[in-house]
Amino acid sequence: AKETGRDNYAFFTERMDMDVRAKLAIQTQLRGAVARGEFAVHYQPQMCLRTGAMLGAEALLRWDNPVLGRVAPSLFIPLAEEYGLITAIGEWVLDTVCAQIQRWHAAGLGEIKVAVNLSGNQFAQDRTVEFVEATLRKYGIAALCLGIEITESTVMGDPDKAVAALKRLKDIGVGISLDDFGTGYSSLGYLKRFPIDVLKIDKSFVDDVATSTNDAAIALSVISLAHNLNMRVIAEGVETREQMAFLREHGCDEMQGYFFSRPLAADAFTALLGEKKNL
Ligand code: C2E
Ligand code: CA
Ligand code: CA
Ligand code: CA
Repeated sequence: AKETGRDNYAFFTERMDMDVRAKLAIQTQLRGAVARGEFAVHYQPQMCLRTGAMLGAEALLRWDNPVLGRVAPSLFIPLAEEYGLITAIGEWVLDTVCAQIQRWHAAGLGEIKVAVNLSGNQFAQDRTVEFVEATLRKYGIAALCLGIEITESTVMGDPDKAVAALKRLKDIGVGISLDDFGTGYSSLGYLKRFPIDVLKIDKSFVDDVATSTNDAAIALSVISLAHNLNMRVIAEGVETREQMAFLREHGCDEMQGYFFSRPLAADAFTALLGEKKNL
């Protein structure tokens, strides 16, 4: 709980302290950034800890603006939400990812599942589920190739609506991961109500998993909780061999992190897929 409090506090002050002019500059530049082609999707491998094979990737948005340079998603995504731009950006991400999956299939490059992060505002829109279905149809790809990552805050705004939308996505075969698990306030309540396939252990618990008995205990609890609920577990932010070994030894299903690979631009990720490199 201490961890959560500190994180939220840091996030809040970061937002409050952000120079008003910097905010304004981001707002100005964000408008039209999709049309100007300033966004790219990078892909970070998600690796099976049992076989070492790549099972999937997380799609992570990158923004390179001529005036501002590269702006971190943790800065611009909350502002895109605030300015009502996140739906357009999120739809661009979904379209870009599905187009990329189609290209990988056409090139015979395996059956990986790509998980896209969804924002709350985007999720509250009735058309999001329809947009996902339409995009899968547009590129002729199976829903099994697509996953979405949500956080508690994604669904907090209108939980009933979120449950309905998630059930529809799950029904068509889109996988649902609960991101940053353990950092929020009522994770267990969400686990009961939402049709979740995967729990992602937050990086803050992974960092010291091999050296702190408390963090190890939390990781082990999340792993058994997930397995008891018939969910899979992905550990995020794995940076060292020790962290990976611990997680593997204790039955964590998948890992993602700099230890294997940073998020990669589409071309570099395509090359990695071609190498069929294992963990
Ligand atoms: P997240 O969903 O928790 O994504 C994981 C973040 O951890 C990413 O930061 C990733 O680059 C970083 N990461 C992965 N492995 C490691 C590691 O081993 N060490 C360290 N230090 N970091 C690692 P990134 O790409 O800056 O994204 C930050 C957040 O922005 C994401 O957190 C997600 O909440 C949001 N985001 C990114 N792309 C999108 C998007 O397309 N849509 C929405 N709505 N949110 C996005
Ligand atoms: Ca995520
Ligand atoms: Ca995460
Ligand atoms: Ca996280």
